[in-house]
Amino acid sequence: MAAWLRQQVEYDENVPCAADLKISSVKMPPNSEKQESVQYEEDNVERIAPQAGPRTYKVSYRVVLVYVYWHIAGLYGAYLLPEAKWQTIVFTVATLWLSILGVTAGAHRLWSHQSYKVNRPLEIFLMLCQSMSCQNSAIHWVRDHRLHHKYTDTDADPHNSIRGFFYSHCGWLLVEKHPEVAKKSKTIDVSDIFNNPVLLFQQKYIKELTVLTAVALPTLIPMVCWGETFNCAWHLSYLRLIINLNLTFLINSANHAYGHKPYDKHITATNNVYLSIMPTGETYHNYHHTFPLDYRTSELGNTFANFTTIFIDICAKLGWAWDLKAVSEDMLKKRMARTGDGTDLWGKKIDQGTQAPVSQ
Ligand SMILES: [Zn+2]
Ligand SMILES: [Zn+2]
Repeated sequence: MAAWLRQQVEYDENVPCAADLKISSVKMPPNSEKQESVQYEEDNVERIAPQAGPRTYKVSYRVVLVYVYWHIAGLYGAYLLPEAKWQTIVFTVATLWLSILGVTAGAHRLWSHQSYKVNRPLEIFLMLCQSMSCQNSAIHWVRDHRLHHKYTDTDADPHNSIRGFFYSHCGWLLVEKHPEVAKKSKTIDVSDIFNNPVLLFQQKYIKELTVLTAVALPTLIPMVCWGETFNCAWHLSYLRLIINLNLTFLINSANHAYGHKPYDKHITATNNVYLSIMPTGETYHNYHHTFPLDYRTSELGNTFANFTTIFIDICAKLGWAWDLKAVSEDMLKKRMARTGDGTDLWGKKIDQGTQAPVSQ
C-alpha cells in the first residue's frame, strides 16, 4: 500500500494500555500526501476497578429465550442446507461477510478505535452492515468495547474473562450488567459517536433497521429473486446470524483464554492460530490489546488472513477511507523484545533480541 495512505502511530512505551488515550491531532484531508504524526495524551481517569468479586447473577429470561430461538433456528438452517438453492447459499455467505464487516471494519476499527476515517456513503454502508449483525446499536457496541479495553478483566469490563469462558462468550448478555459497568461508563469519552449523525440515526431506528437488514430482506430477497422457500430463506438467515454472533463472541472468550502472547505476556488477550482460520483479522488479539489504534488489528496487515484489512485498503485506494493508523515495524519489535512471551504471531519460538526463529 502507498505510504501516504497510512499514518504512523507513536505509542508511549510507558503507558500500560493506549486504548483510553485521547487523540489530539488526527486531522488530515483525504489522500493527503502529508505525513502527520499522531500525538496522544493520557486522560486523568482512575483505571482501577474491582476484578471479579462475589456476585449474584440476575438472569434476563427474555434475552435467554431470544438467544435460544436464534440458535435453534440457525442450527435448523444448517440442517436445511442440502435442500436450499445454491443462490441462497451464495447469498448467505455474502451477507455473512457483510455483517462481519459491519462489526470488524465498522463498530470495531472505525467507530470504537477511530483507527481510520471514511466518507459518508461508506459510513452509511457500514452502519447498515452492522445493523445486520444483531449486536445492538453501534453506539452501545462502542461504549462496551471502550470499557473492555480500558478496564480489561475487571468488573467494569462488560465481558470480564476472569468470570469464565461462558460468561465472556455470551453469558454477560444474558444477565444484568454489573453495576461497575454503568459506573465506569461515565469515564468513557463517547462524545465522538454521540456527535455522529449516522450513528444517531441508527440508534433511533435500531429495531426497525435490525428487523429489516437481519431478517426481513435476507428472507424476502431469496424468495422473490430466485424462488427460494420461506422455510429455507428464513432459517438460513438465522444460520448467518449465529455464525456472525459466535465469531464475535469467540474474540471475547477464546481470545482471552487460549493462545500465545507475542507482544505482551502480562495481559489475558491472546493471538490464536486456530481461530485465525476464519480470516476476519480480529483473532490476533494480543497485538490488538497492545496496539489498539492500529487499523490492521494485526501485524499481518494486508494478507489472506485479514479480510477486513484488505477491505479497508481497497477503500483507501478508492479514496473512500484515509488516515489509516499503523504501528511501525521498529516499535513492534521493541515491544516484542520488552514484554512479549518469546513467540511470533504464529506462536513459533523466536529470539526476542533478533526476532529470528529458534530451532527447538
Ligand atoms: Zn479483548
Ligand atoms: Zn478493540
